[in-house]
Amino acid sequence: RYETRTYSCLRPPIPLPPPNQPLSVAEFCLSIFSSTSTDGATAFAVNSTTGQTLTYSQFVSQVRSLAYSLKRQYSLSQNDVAFVLCPSSLHVPVIYFALLSLGIIVSPANPLSSNSEIAHQIQLSKPVIAFATSQSYHKIPSLKHGTIILDSPEFLSLLTRSDIDDDITKRVKINQSDTAAILYSSGTTGRVKGVIMTHRNLIAMMAVIHHYNTIEAAGCDEPRHVTFFTVPLFHVFGFFTLLGSVLSAETVVLTERFVFAEMLRAVEKYKVTVMPVSPPLVLSFVKSDLTKKYDLSSLQAVGCGGAPLGQEVAQLFNKKFPNVLLVKGYGLTETGGGATTTAGPEEAAPSGTVGRLSENMEAKIVDSVTGETLPPGQRGELWLRGPVVMKGYVGDEKATAETLDSEGWLKTGDICYFDSEGFLYVVDRLKELIKYKAYQVPPAELEQLLHSHPEIADAAVIPYPDEEAGQIPMAYIVRNPGSRLSEAQVIDFIAKQACFYNFNRKYLFLFSLVAPYKKIRRVAFIDSIPKSPAGKILRRELVNCSTSGGLSK
Ligand code: AMP
Repeated sequence: RYETRTYSCLRPPIPLPPPNQPLSVAEFCLSIFSSTSTDGATAFAVNSTTGQTLTYSQFVSQVRSLAYSLKRQYSLSQNDVAFVLCPSSLHVPVIYFALLSLGIIVSPANPLSSNSEIAHQIQLSKPVIAFATSQSYHKIPSLKHGTIILDSPEFLSLLTRSDIDDDITKRVKINQSDTAAILYSSGTTGRVKGVIMTHRNLIAMMAVIHHYNTIEAAGCDEPRHVTFFTVPLFHVFGFFTLLGSVLSAETVVLTERFVFAEMLRAVEKYKVTVMPVSPPLVLSFVKSDLTKKYDLSSLQAVGCGGAPLGQEVAQLFNKKFPNVLLVKGYGLTETGGGATTTAGPEEAAPSGTVGRLSENMEAKIVDSVTGETLPPGQRGELWLRGPVVMKGYVGDEKATAETLDSEGWLKTGDICYFDSEGFLYVVDRLKELIKYKAYQVPPAELEQLLHSHPEIADAAVIPYPDEEAGQIPMAYIVRNPGSRLSEAQVIDFIAKQACFYNFNRKYLFLFSLVAPYKKIRRVAFIDSIPKSPAGKILRRELVNCSTSGGLSK
């Protein structure tokens, strides 16, 4: 039972490699991977959209070939940044591992992002090269070493060279404190930021997976997992799960376009055992009758995170799929994903919790007004500390200082409490972020667009609860005097900025300002936006009004 006000994982710490030992996360994963994956014929990755497969040995040889090409042909140097704008495919794991093993920083982004979102991300991370597909490359501005297009014959030749005279990665000295990846998140406020993850951050996460793999392997002789990726590989959840799958020498099933029925078919066909998912997918599992049409008996566990999962939905899932373990987890891009999990060996997690702290993680609950550290049962902002916590936001010392304190505590912006058994409950969000189907929608971006409308005097965007999506973006609008702007016109104004200009594939997304999932889906008009004396929008007041019907729609 917790008696102190600082919480830590109840299980013993998992030892990490000495911090001064030069080591990349790629080397950490691949050395364990190659010691366990001896079968050259077994699929490491399957593309369920095309049916293509990649064996373990092809994966390793493509990583080596691409690394060689990037170094010799493109003259990339250690600590250069590579922007990756690709849907999930067999190429993505190869690209990630080639870059990570050369000490080149991976910066993956959502291929649905608009041109201006990408321009902003590129301004933050300053890549010298990009990887994209023929659908997305035109959104990337000109970079020092250009953009490599994955569905081109040139890329295939980079993966399958026969002239490699040297394992180039062996001669690169990567310190664990070096930056490994820059992921994108809006953090607690404002526009998107670049989250710096070091090799040490990623190794710390992988060491935990390795620890449990070792225990599991000692106890039984079960075949390795087959993991179906419903979560995108550019998001922290998919990124880490993929590294963990390589380390564990699992089979990963990837899909280029997510379609629920096709996913079920793939579960049956490839005998999928594990799936990382976001809450809307758990709801689809519960509601859909399609699940009865497929043999899902191979499925052992579904790991859900990224946004709140309703208790009733979780209960209905357990009832409909009694043989599938529903594991819940909570985390942030800034903590490299899973900070808590309900999957601990001794857990019997009560309903509604997101589990206990993961290994090597510490937490406290802080009263955001008084700064006091609170005991179990009391709600406040969750602060987290541990070796997986990011180094900071790239090029943004102010945001870094506001989020990370001098003792290494990360302020999550989430309102939570621990019970006396150390289980964490997430009750609310202090920060501005909206999560639409677990995708990040930073209100500041939509507010900026709304301000550009000639009839809008002021605007604020808040989350509004929604059964299917979790939350939808709702706008409070102050119209200019005399304006008769309607709800439909506001929704349409943003939708137009977010739509696909599909008249010619070449110009797909060319004019979109925000990604398609960032639409305003509800509007209310108001005389003035409530603001603090410092001019900060008092979102809480608007959130309370929106759900209590306090303002006219
Ligand atoms: P991201 O950086 O996109 O992973 O978003 C992190 C945020 O998503 C967290 O700060 C929470 O607000 C929310 N979140 C993630 N997992 C959960 C969960 N299991 N329950 C409630 N909120 C969650």
